[in-house]
Amino acid sequence: MNIAEQIKQLRHQLREYNHHYYVLDNPLVPDAEYDRLFRQLLKLEQEHPEYLSADSPTQRVGDKPLSHFESVRHEIPMLSLANAMDNEEARAFDRRLRQKLEPADDSNQFNIEYNVEPKLDGLAISLLYEEGVLVRAATRGDGETGEDVTQNVRTIDSIPLRLLSEKPPVILEVRGEVFMPKSGFEQLNNLQLQQGKKPFANPRNAAAGSLRQLDPAVTASRPLDMFCYAIGRVEGLELPMTQSDRLALLKSIGLKVCPEIDVVLGIDACLAYKDNIGGRRNSLPYEIDGVVYKVNSITQQEILGFVSRAPRWAIAHKFPAQEEMTVLEAIDVQVGRTGALTPVARLKPVFVGGVTVNNASLHNAAEIKRLDVRVGDTVIVHRAGDVIPKVTGVVLERRPQSAVPYDFPENCPVCGSDVVIDEGGVIARCCGGLFCDAQRKQSIKHFVSRNAMDIDGLGDKVVELLVDTGLIHDVGDIYRLQYDDLLKLDRMAEKSASKLIGAINHSKETTLARFLYALGIPQVGETTARILANHFTSLDAIQAASSEELQLLEDVGPVVANDVQVFFRQTHNQEVIDKLINAGVHWPAIERAPEQHSELQGKVFVITGTLSEMSRNDAKSALLALGAKVSGSVSAKTDIVVVGENPGSKADKATSLGLEIIDEAQLKQILKLATDNV
Ligand code: NAD
Repeated sequence: MNIAEQIKQLRHQLREYNHHYYVLDNPLVPDAEYDRLFRQLLKLEQEHPEYLSADSPTQRVGDKPLSHFESVRHEIPMLSLANAMDNEEARAFDRRLRQKLEPADDSNQFNIEYNVEPKLDGLAISLLYEEGVLVRAATRGDGETGEDVTQNVRTIDSIPLRLLSEKPPVILEVRGEVFMPKSGFEQLNNLQLQQGKKPFANPRNAAAGSLRQLDPAVTASRPLDMFCYAIGRVEGLELPMTQSDRLALLKSIGLKVCPEIDVVLGIDACLAYKDNIGGRRNSLPYEIDGVVYKVNSITQQEILGFVSRAPRWAIAHKFPAQEEMTVLEAIDVQVGRTGALTPVARLKPVFVGGVTVNNASLHNAAEIKRLDVRVGDTVIVHRAGDVIPKVTGVVLERRPQSAVPYDFPENCPVCGSDVVIDEGGVIARCCGGLFCDAQRKQSIKHFVSRNAMDIDGLGDKVVELLVDTGLIHDVGDIYRLQYDDLLKLDRMAEKSASKLIGAINHSKETTLARFLYALGIPQVGETTARILANHFTSLDAIQAASSEELQLLEDVGPVVANDVQVFFRQTHNQEVIDKLINAGVHWPAIERAPEQHSELQGKVFVITGTLSEMSRNDAKSALLALGAKVSGSVSAKTDIVVVGENPGSKADKATSLGLEIIDEAQLKQILKLATDNV
């Protein structure tokens, strides 16, 4: 293809992507792909200026708005921003500016003062205040012409309908970003799914889609917010001459300004700011996709001026993409402990969210159907923070002809037993039970895990070898293992074998709660196991309990009660329990159920990160003893999240849900007070 054709094709492709992104709020490809093509076009046009044309996507902003809103002409155009993809590009930007501002300064000592701001991932809006009253709100549109969305913007609580000023200016046009906070985005997408509607691709599309609704009542139901960052037209007001002072002015008259904004000197400080915010990106309650460096002095801004689609005095330094596209090479189905079949996407390796991703979650059969994802498809992979990467969509225009809809297996891929779909139509399960090698292996791995029987040295690999070689069939066989058996295993040295035998023997002394949890009764997690143990105090009593008696306990409803009873009714489960007890597994008698009523009774805690003075398990035991509950995941039902060092995504989620967050010292204090008051 010659240059002219390449350029033509890129322009055509980008225009189509723009239309889907800006007008339909439904992007066809991830931003990273759009940015790659955009830069490719920019480079070709720079190398071959003879092909430059005013209607190229590189020369224009956004896209022509939809016709069903009134048009608004922006007297001062609303521009885009130039991008820097890495530190080197950001430094080159700073060098260019210094050269323009001080052409004679060779010493390179001069530093520009920058106003540094998070790059909010929403959509740009112009608010027009006349005599302090909001009279019009408009989208950016193609920069020259936007859409009148006044009625919709008026439903956003954080946007004042009247400025807080005794003597408001005749005209003040304020610009900023309307966005959807992460928590609201999650809720909205859950609702969309419940109602059988398509979820939004990202908070930016959700915000744009919500604001560009014909019925303001729909916008009013969507959780939107706005941060202001610029001033457009102004009459009857002398504006301060720095960006930071202008933002302070906006704040003083009741407009919301992002609290993370700062003023720094020189590009090194800009980069440090970017690293700092980048490190906190996942815990901010709103989505950002980079930072913006803006020359703080308005005088300098005026000297620098504009290029076609962006100011010269600002640049958006983008973070690495959290969304990428790659080819789905296969769908593997894994079988879990309870027989649940989980599909896993095997991907052509792709760099996303800062790591190379080979596998991603596909959740369940229903999700595969909803996405209509097919082997061979180019899929969109999302990875933010330390959460498991997931496939969120398909790039339909890249679907190969050979791709056929995926049929979820009707038989277990491991044991061939029938697969049944649960009543909700979501979870597919293998009916093989302990006949299924996969379930057996998983149930043994669970039995030996740290919070269950805690057998050190019996890792996943060893369990698989033991089952594959027929040395153990179920968990009851673990205690019959001999030193000589272990030595037969591949790569098992004498020292590890004797250590493992020691650990197996050591684990015989346990607690009733751990034992119950280790059995892997469906729905009986650590908390339920502990509640059952404390209440009934013996295994015999639990096995003999009626459904009504079981349901007297907090956390135990009819489903859990039924699962407990069904489990103990199975002869093979009884045989395993007998084997274990005959092999010497035992626990201390429980004297009485410690029904202490403290102020923590019923409060739901989540612990994340590493605690320095106590182990997470100790903290958990102390909380449980005081009647609190300790959950493994953060939800709206969580009361308090304890955050240790290097916390995971749970801390981020807690922040976005606005939950109470405490550190280890505060936890210790709470425990002490609650204990003293019992
Ligand atoms: P942009 O989003 O890269 O930057 C300009 C915009 O940043 C402004 O209009 C404003 O809305 C926003 N912004 C956020 N915080 C700001 C702050 N503190 N100060 C100033 N502005 C701030 O540019 P754009 O022209 O809106 O969009 C281009 C980008 O959109 C592309 O880089 C691409 O990632 C994405 N896009 C994607 C597709 C797709 O198909 N996936 C299509 C078109 C555009």
